[in-house]
Amino acid sequence: MAAISSNFIHNPYSNSKVVVVSLRKPFSSLFGDKFLGKSLSYSPKKITSKRSDTARVSGLRPIKASSHSFDVVVVGAGIIGLTIARQFLLESDLSVAVVDAAVPCAGATGAGQGYLWMVHKTPGSDKWELAMRSRKLWEKLAENIQDQGMNPMEILGWKKTGSLLVGRTPKESAMLKKRVDQHSEAGLRAEFLSSCDLLSEEPALVVGEEGGAAFLPDDCQLDARHTVEFIEKGNRQFTSKGRYAEFYHEPATSLLRSGSRVVEAVRTSKNTLYSKKAVVIATGCWSGSLMHDLIRDSDIELDVPIKPRKGHLLVLENFNSFKLNHGLMEVGYTNHEAAKGPIHEETSSVSMTATMDARGNLVLGSSRQFVGFCTELNESIINSIWERAGEFFPSLRELSLADYSRSREVRIGLRPYMPDGKPLIAPVPGLSNLFLAAGHEGEGLSLAPGTAEMVANMVLGDPEKVDRSPFAFKVNAAC
Ligand SMILES: Cc1cc2nc3c(=O)[nH]c(=O)nc-3n(C[C@H](O)[C@H](O)[C@H](O)COP(=O)(O)OP(=O)(O)OC[C@H]3O[C@@H](n4cnc5c(N)ncnc54)[C@H](O)[C@@H]3O)c2cc1C
Repeated sequence: MAAISSNFIHNPYSNSKVVVVSLRKPFSSLFGDKFLGKSLSYSPKKITSKRSDTARVSGLRPIKASSHSFDVVVVGAGIIGLTIARQFLLESDLSVAVVDAAVPCAGATGAGQGYLWMVHKTPGSDKWELAMRSRKLWEKLAENIQDQGMNPMEILGWKKTGSLLVGRTPKESAMLKKRVDQHSEAGLRAEFLSSCDLLSEEPALVVGEEGGAAFLPDDCQLDARHTVEFIEKGNRQFTSKGRYAEFYHEPATSLLRSGSRVVEAVRTSKNTLYSKKAVVIATGCWSGSLMHDLIRDSDIELDVPIKPRKGHLLVLENFNSFKLNHGLMEVGYTNHEAAKGPIHEETSSVSMTATMDARGNLVLGSSRQFVGFCTELNESIINSIWERAGEFFPSLRELSLADYSRSREVRIGLRPYMPDGKPLIAPVPGLSNLFLAAGHEGEGLSLAPGTAEMVANMVLGDPEKVDRSPFAFKVNAAC
């Protein structure tokens, strides 16, 4: 736990700028009227009496803290944890507590570029159904906001720009044509654009005569920080109804178990949060080490191989040298994302992604490195991102990055990397009431709503909307 705590102290996002979203309508209207006037099943209340003697605490520190009780306790307030909380609040009567060692956007979520694209995803792959379901849910949310007379661009930073997966060689173009066929067969609008077509679509982009792009016109992007703020505000609508509470700056430290198999509560640095129905661990790249700590005094053998994969993103504010009409990604990104090398090595790779956010900032990505929990800025990575972008947008080479020293922001985040490239979204074997939802690497924003729905369906015993089996634990707990 010490490593986790010190990382938060130095986290560059703990003082990040607050994005203020001005709302013309109250959030309650967006969260549907179906809960208004509904009798609430439960109000969180302080527990004064001691719990049963059979309760066991994992971890050693005696904690003098107050206790609260909820139906569901979600640990981690990144996009995954907050979206899970939202799902329970909207789709059930359950009360929910969200716990975070820091604050939302302190983790990978605050660094996310915000593309929700299908263009680099492979139809028929294990994640495809989840990605399609998530995309539908994001679109529904944006439509809902629109229907309420608000602008999803203002609220979520939502833009339907379409996406371009760009290649520069005949081989890459051939691969992209095949990809377009696959996406069309999977029911998405997709077309191959030659270098000539690209000139009119994206005048600043240069791919050479042999190059081209797979174009998915319906792909969308959002602003992660705006979206988190929206979800948080929506969740807080349930506070006055006694159904929602946040425990920020409170790292979860241990579990309280009844017998050896039933999770009764989460202990944080300040509180004990009892849960009647479920505890969901959604702590991104910290989930591997946290799970290790949470089960260390049990007889459960479980490997949660989630590791931090550092990423830098370069944001040039109010960029006006050229405009992007779409979101772009180089074709090499697919390998860059999937690369599985030995994680103890300080391997780093940079692959071009470019988006223009709702405020007109040019957002350039991205890097991938295995350097533990370090979130320090590495200028040489930023230079590599800039140079790589210059290979696709030659006009950038006429500009000096130094000229942007005052109008640039660097975002650094730790992606939750899973060696098999798939998140774990599943009950934790051997412990009833405990669930894990983490390991989304570079797709957590895209996959968040589908993940949240999957977790809620599991907990509530509802039929699955998406096949869960690819996201289950592959190992059995030793009993
Ligand atoms: C540079 C970059 C660009 C990206 N771009 C995109 C993109 O365009 N599209 C996309 O889909 N994805 C993108 N991603 C990936 C995406 O950001 C992540 O997959 C996603 O944010 C993961 O969300 P999370 O909630 O699982 O983790 P996090 O956002 O990391 O949240 C985990 C939370 O857990 C908390 N926590 C940790 N330990 C504890 C503890 N002991 N107790 C309580 N709380 C704890 C942390 O404080 C943190 O708030 C990008 C990532 C990076 C780094």
